[in-house]
Amino acid sequence: MYRCSEVAERASLLIDGELGFLPRLNIRLHLAICRGCRAFIEQMRITRELTAMADTADDIPPGEEIKAALAQRQMQLKTKG
Ligand SMILES: [Zn+2]
Repeated sequence: MYRCSEVAERASLLIDGELGFLPRLNIRLHLAICRGCRAFIEQMRITRELTAMADTADDIPPGEEIKAALAQRQMQLKTKG
């Protein structure tokens, strides 16, 4: 069975589904008895999901700062033209 450090080393591979049967089994066994690593993997999963969501969330409207910057730029373009 893996130690905590070995689980941590393989955590991202596990989440990406890139681990073979044996390493996965070893991690499962470790997670069954180690609460710290369970929390670690869970945290990592959540972070991954949030990152994936941020990557695909392009329907979020731009913030005021960005809108102001865009408006300013358009004004500059107009005065130039
Ligand atoms: Zn552990």
